[in-house]
Amino acid sequence: MNDAHQSPDPKGMTVSAAPDEAKSSARAVDSLPELVRFHKVTKSFGEGPLARVAFQDVSFLIEDLPNEGELIAIVGPSGCGKSTLLRIIAGLRPHFPPTSGEVKVFGAPITYPGADRGMVDQKYSLMPHLTVRDNIAFGLMLRGMRLKERCDRAGEWAKKVGLEGCEDKYPSELSGGMQQRVSIAATLILQPKILLMDEPFGALDPKIRMQMQELLVQLWKEQQSTVFIVTHSVEEAIYLGDRVLRMAAKPGRLVEILQLPRPDISPEMMRRKPWFTEISQELLLRLETDAPASGELPGSDKWR
Ligand code: ADP
Ligand code: MG
Repeated sequence: MNDAHQSPDPKGMTVSAAPDEAKSSARAVDSLPELVRFHKVTKSFGEGPLARVAFQDVSFLIEDLPNEGELIAIVGPSGCGKSTLLRIIAGLRPHFPPTSGEVKVFGAPITYPGADRGMVDQKYSLMPHLTVRDNIAFGLMLRGMRLKERCDRAGEWAKKVGLEGCEDKYPSELSGGMQQRVSIAATLILQPKILLMDEPFGALDPKIRMQMQELLVQLWKEQQSTVFIVTHSVEEAIYLGDRVLRMAAKPGRLVEILQLPRPDISPEMMRRKPWFTEISQELLLRLETDAPASGELPGSDKWR
């Protein structure tokens, strides 16, 4: 097998492996059910000489950690296939199905998008003619939930994401950060087991972005879902990620999986820790140079 998966680490805190080296997982006890498995997955768009490889030979395994969930950050240069990877998990065409290899979610092959997987992207995907409440409740309406119940639930979610009092507003009346909160609430209200986020905070200014990161961590702990988040920000990946999947381009591929500590302080405080800066710089360097998998991040002993 060829799964890129954490190597056992004596200190229980690290590290990755290049896809070829990985054999078993630090936290993976054999009995843990599989959540998402990629096995030698390649995706090309088009055929013949015009075929364009989005990524090739990607293998990894994310286990279902009971009552816990995990936050998986995906980083890599533009065009290395991050969005394609996420959309394959979501079962969205034309990215899905992959050209070759095997993708399983909850131990079974993916056949179509499902309520067990929710997607949030940078464009917020809100319906402009619906209020905040109706946008948040939209998925519940499709599921046939009664008006009163879905409005109550949407109200609860508006509160959770800090939009109390804005329930009757329309998306055009909201800032980018607020729109993204609506989008997150509209997805999480459906309680997906897997939350897929494609650069969700990319369009937000740094302060709002940090607030959203904190909110995400809080909601994720409450929901105990597993989150895949594609981000351009190394700091965001390190703050949010339990694991970071580092990809490289030309051809798109998975290079390594790094294991990181869980945030127990705000992003602002975490950024002030010297080890955080050290690790951020190292990850940035690895990204810029497309460095081969090189194991533990220097400085990772400091957070222990
Ligand atoms: P990233 O999100 O890392 O920037 P993408 O997954 O969007 O990368 O794209 C990876 C490669 O696949 C790129 O070369 C891109 O042009 C190509 N690609 C992505 N989506 C499509 C599509 N729908 N049709 C054709 N090519 C695509
Ligand atoms: Mg993308």
